Amino acid sequence: MPMFTDRVRIFLKAGHGGNGAVSFRREKFIPKGGPDGGDGGDGGDIIFIAKNDPHLLRALYLHPHLKAQRGEHGKGQNKRGKDGKDLIVYVPVGTVFIDPETGKIVCDLNKEGKKFVACRGGKGGRGNYHFRGSVNQTPRFAEKGEPGEEKSFILELRLIAHAGFVGFPNAGKSSLLAALTNAHPEIANYPFTTLNPNLGVIYDVEGKDGEYFVLADLPGLIEGASEGKGLGFKFLRHIERVGLLIFVLDVSVPHWIDNFLLLRKELEKYNPEIIKKQSLLVINKIDLIDNLEEVKNMVSEKIDLPTEFVSAKTGEGIDRLRKLIYDTLREIDWEPEEKEETEEKIYTYTPIFTIEKMPGGFIVKGDKIEKLVYKTDFTSWDAARHFLNVITRMGLKKALLRKGVKPGMEIKMGEMIFSYDEIFNPPIDPLPKKRSRK
Ligand code: GDP
Ligand code: MG
Repeated sequence: MPMFTDRVRIFLKAGHGGNGAVSFRREKFIPKGGPDGGDGGDGGDIIFIAKNDPHLLRALYLHPHLKAQRGEHGKGQNKRGKDGKDLIVYVPVGTVFIDPETGKIVCDLNKEGKKFVACRGGKGGRGNYHFRGSVNQTPRFAEKGEPGEEKSFILELRLIAHAGFVGFPNAGKSSLLAALTNAHPEIANYPFTTLNPNLGVIYDVEGKDGEYFVLADLPGLIEGASEGKGLGFKFLRHIERVGLLIFVLDVSVPHWIDNFLLLRKELEKYNPEIIKKQSLLVINKIDLIDNLEEVKNMVSEKIDLPTEFVSAKTGEGIDRLRKLIYDTLREIDWEPEEKEETEEKIYTYTPIFTIEKMPGGFIVKGDKIEKLVYKTDFTSWDAARHFLNVITRMGLKKALLRKGVKPGMEIKMGEMIFSYDEIFNPPIDPLPKKRSRK
């Protein structure tokens, strides 16, 4: 497969939501105003956007830990805290996100501009203004902000080679690749650490747009490759999928022009479709000959392909060759073979909570319930009462009774462990001051 991969593992922390505020209006001559605690701001998300630049992964090698801003806490006078800023990260087109635990592809940023919200910030907590009601006109509690998501992904860049060099060993394929891409120093320092080294990128020669093409210097084609000798088969599988073949001939060897026919024969034996691909011809090592005109005539007589005469060693003709390759690839009507389809999204129904038996009681699990526990400030009796109201409305108390909860048992939710009595027979006022977190 002419697909070259590079990988980096990243660690993400979205912003926490700001806490809601507990505050009461203070006005002249009004001893006790109503609640006016504002909501906390939402935490920032971490968002990835695909861009046409294969170098972008480099930054993530150096800084794999990314964090988005947290939301500000709410304030009095019903002022909402500021939202945390989203963190926007650009990655190369062709980057797929893999869940390190399951190995499954979560998202494939295969088009310029495609976006992936990889890690969501926590919602801001609601201020006490929100909890004013006919029963409780002075709510002395507010919600805490939700924590931001924490996630890790493996990013894998899957580059498709647009063009591949075809030639016998020693024809100068590696040297050509280096010469073609060395003209751009930043390309010479190609950042991919684990990438197949025989790969280069050429850009728009005039620098007009961000388009680039990937050239592959494939393992040398040897005689008999189609019979599976040497690297043959592996090589041929690569070459099957590129959009453009670049034949390379070493003009300094005897019978060099016959090598073109040999190369074609090998390819044809393996798969007759291959030689129908669009092709260019490169006559390399012209620094070693003194009869260039003769060579040119021979080629134009025998081979009907766009041709450049170059020396990878002296650099002669390399700029022209780069332009020829670039312009040809721009015009080519070729779609790289589709990657394996991205995993189909699976939507699962998640109940609001689940109840499991544990020694001496039950564990209640579920996103909503765990967030509610997290957001509740149990040092405030008002907040605790609000919590009890919500879990009653959710049907949690009934569900626990159906499961057989009994006095003396414990019920674990998120980070808290409650006694049976705390939930089913909460103390009546006067209010207990503190409840301990365990
Ligand atoms: P590959 O096997 O096709 O990848 O060929 P290489 O790029 O490894 O080159 C084989 C040999 O030919 C190396 O010793 C190169 O230095 C040499 N070579 C490549 N291009 C040229 C050229 O244009 N002129 C000369 N004189 N030598 C070259
Ligand atoms: Mg080589």
